[in-house]
Amino acid sequence: MSSFVYRLKNTGAGSEKYGVCELCKKGADSTYLLVKLRKARSGVLCNASDAFGHKECLSVLTEE
Ligand SMILES: [Zn+2]
Repeated sequence: MSSFVYRLKNTGAGSEKYGVCELCKKGADSTYLLVKLRKARSGVLCNASDAFGHKECLSVLTEE
């Protein structure tokens, strides 16, 4: 079995610099990058996927 670890990073800029939220396709004043990491039995973390957008939109992904 593998488990997932999420890292949420504030990009420090809004949609003017990075574009609209990937999830709702709307602009944001502050945007975040969510990195999903798969934790292997050995403890090694592998990048599984990432997403970009509103903190609120990204938080939905971590609740899957
Ligand atoms: Zn959004």
